[in-house]
Amino acid sequence: MTDTEVDLFVVGAGSGGVRAARIAASYGAKVMVAEEYRVGGTCVIRGCVPKKLLVYASRYADDFEDAAGFGWSVEPPTFDWGKLIANKDREIARLEAAYTANLERSKVAIVKSRAVLEDPHTVRLLATGAKVRAKHVLISTGAAPHMGADIAGLDHVISSNEAFHLEELPKRILIQGGGYIAVEFAGIFNGLGSEVTLVYRGDNILRGFDDDVRELLRAEMERRGIKVVTRQTVDAVEKTEHCLCATLSNRETFMVDHVMFATGRKPNIAGFGLDKAGVTLGKTGGIAVDRFSRTSVPHIYAVGDVTNRINLTPVAIREGHAFADTVFGNKPTAVDHADVPTAVFSEPEVGAIGLTEAQARELLPAVDIYKTSFRPMKMTLAGRDTRAFFKLVVDGDSDRVVGCHIVGPDAGEMIQLVGIAMKMKATKADFDTVMAVHPTAAEELVTLREKAMSYRREAAE
Ligand SMILES: Cc1cc2nc3c(=O)[nH]c(=O)nc-3n(C[C@H](O)[C@H](O)[C@H](O)COP(=O)(O)OP(=O)(O)OC[C@H]3O[C@@H](n4cnc5c(N)ncnc54)[C@H](O)[C@@H]3O)c2cc1C
Repeated sequence: MTDTEVDLFVVGAGSGGVRAARIAASYGAKVMVAEEYRVGGTCVIRGCVPKKLLVYASRYADDFEDAAGFGWSVEPPTFDWGKLIANKDREIARLEAAYTANLERSKVAIVKSRAVLEDPHTVRLLATGAKVRAKHVLISTGAAPHMGADIAGLDHVISSNEAFHLEELPKRILIQGGGYIAVEFAGIFNGLGSEVTLVYRGDNILRGFDDDVRELLRAEMERRGIKVVTRQTVDAVEKTEHCLCATLSNRETFMVDHVMFATGRKPNIAGFGLDKAGVTLGKTGGIAVDRFSRTSVPHIYAVGDVTNRINLTPVAIREGHAFADTVFGNKPTAVDHADVPTAVFSEPEVGAIGLTEAQARELLPAVDIYKTSFRPMKMTLAGRDTRAFFKLVVDGDSDRVVGCHIVGPDAGEMIQLVGIAMKMKATKADFDTVMAVHPTAAEELVTLREKAMSYRREAAE
């Protein structure tokens, strides 16, 4: 016996779920969405948006310092963490209200409850016990921080979730992880004045990014005073009278105010009842889906981080939209996951799209590399020794640009536009036909003349 019937039940009001719910409703479907925490999901509440606000805050430190070289005298600036967090929280609450209003305007019913699957067509709302019968179910439950092995003192360790709500700016923080979240928070706390140690078990930070980018970013982070410790893990965390003592695998100890782990994220599927509905998982631990985001059960779909494909907000939104077009709009739409541009809001910023140099050499018989590293103009009067970096990876046979990697101010903004050219299959010659915008950093993209490297694979005998 069920209390309600809907065409679509969406579990999770994050990036993917909200878009899917609104588009499905616009096609006339009766839609209900359940959210156990806050409408907007990870990106809006404790991901991209609050993170970027903290990144902006942290960058003022350089601006104040650099101003002197341009003739300004600035009183020694002071910083108020409490004010920043309160202002950030106000903005997040505004966005949450806007997301809620948009759903309501679209006639989507919102239930503030955890939802679980009872059987392939029935969803149970834990807040009330009510059962809802759904013709289609969309699982868009996202992912949550994965804290790794159960080391001694793990209960003293925070994740990015808590980092957004610390009562005080830590004087000293140790962050474990080498992915973009670890690197970004290291930059945030460093910029705001904390003493930061970054511990990563691998050889170098930002695995999966181009090796030149990884090296340059690490060097820049170290130059800014971040202590980067690689090939080590945090093995224990002990609470002392005044602080935390983190012990690494090499027995080195660090006395800090906070230990944060950014050691990966895991799809939110625990206790959700996937087994009761017969939904299966893929090799990477996410829900297995086809190119239309359909699971092993034909009327159940999954989008976003819970599928562990490419865990980024715009991807989740695209997948949610494509699902609604496919199922309710009579427009079968598969999302193209190739050449997704991405940014790391580290200091300095990284923008990347397509193949790294190593990947291109593995995949293509002929590869040409164009790259340059220089001191951006603003840094000259600022007296800052930081460098920017541009690299184009080109298919040596077709001349197509198959990868672009940028480190420096506004790299995220630039890579978005390079993405358009790459999706249009632009060649290096196409890039070269474009007149430079001078003086900018981005002009390097159209003025890279000299090949830095040219690889040709020997033909098999
Ligand atoms: C610190 C951080 C920074 C990030 N920065 C960026 C960035 O700069 N750019 C970028 O593109 N991406 C970024 N991301 C990733 C981005 O936030 C995610 O890829 C995106 O939010 C995924 O959307 P989603 O719809 O899959 O899930 P989510 O947005 O996570 O939404 C899932 C929702 O489901 C709810 N939920 C889970 N289980 C249930 C249940 N059983 N019942 C009811 N509700 C449930 C959750 O509470 C959550 O609100 C960042 C993530 C983090 C953690």
